[in-house]
Amino acid sequence: MLLAVLTLTLAGCYTVPETGRQSFIVISPGEESQLGASEFANIKAKEKISADPAYNEQVTRVGRHIADAVGNQLPSAKWEFVVFDAPKTVNAFALPGGKVGVYTGLLKLCDSDDELAIVMGHEIGHVTARHGAERMSEALLIGLGAVVVDAATQSRTNSTRNAWLIGYGAVVGVGASMKFSRNHESEADHIGVRYAAKAGYDPRASITFWQKMAKQKSQPGGVVGAVMALVSTHPVDAERIQQLQGWMPEVLPLYEAAKLHPR
Ligand SMILES: [Zn+2]
Repeated sequence: MLLAVLTLTLAGCYTVPETGRQSFIVISPGEESQLGASEFANIKAKEKISADPAYNEQVTRVGRHIADAVGNQLPSAKWEFVVFDAPKTVNAFALPGGKVGVYTGLLKLCDSDDELAIVMGHEIGHVTARHGAERMSEALLIGLGAVVVDAATQSRTNSTRNAWLIGYGAVVGVGASMKFSRNHESEADHIGVRYAAKAGYDPRASITFWQKMAKQKSQPGGVVGAVMALVSTHPVDAERIQQLQGWMPEVLPLYEAAKLHPR
C-alpha cells in the first residue's frame, strides 16, 4: 500500500492547455510519448500507407499549421503525419508524441483544408489534453494493485493499454461499442476549434463538417459500406452542434487575428 501511495504522490495534476481544466494523471508525458511512438509503429506496420501525393501534401500542410498553433503545449512532440489508404474507413487519430494518422475515407469527405483542420485539431486536442493518459489513470486507479505491479514491472496490462488507445481514437473497427466520454469529446472539440482558428482555418467549418457527417451516417447511400469510425466514436447530435456554435464568438477573433498574419 505504501508503494501505491508513493506512486500516486509522484503522479500529479495536469492543467489542460486551452481550457485550463485540472486533471489527474499517473503516467509521465515522456512515458506517454514512448507509448505513442511504439503504437504508431504498430499501426503503420499493419495498415496500408497511402502514396497519393495530393492527400499526403494536404495532410502534412494542415498538420504542420496545427502543430504550429499547438506550439510548446506538446514539448515532446516529434510530429509525423501519415495517410492510410483505406477509402472506406472514415477516421483519423492522434497519439502522444505528435503522431497523426488520417484515413483516405475521411479525406474523401473533407471538402476543404478548413474541414480537415477541424478534425485534425480535434484529434490533436485529445493528445494535448492527455485524454488517453487520463483514461488509463482512471483504469489504473480502479485497480490500485495494478499501479504497483505496473510501476514495478514497467509493463502495462491489456485493459489499461486498451483504455489508453481508446482514449486517443486509435482503435479502428471496434465500432459503435466504443464510445469516448462526452466530457473528453466536448473538450477536444473546444481545443480543436481553437487550434484550427489560431492556425488560420475557419472554425465555422466545424459546424458544417459535423452536420455533413451526421447526414452521411443517416444516408446509407452516402458512403456505401464505409466504416464510419469517426461518427460511431464521436456522436453527432444537436447538443454537440449547439456547443460548437456557442464557442464561435470566442474563436472567430482568433481566426481574424491569424488572417492578419498569413501563413
Ligand atoms: Zn474525439
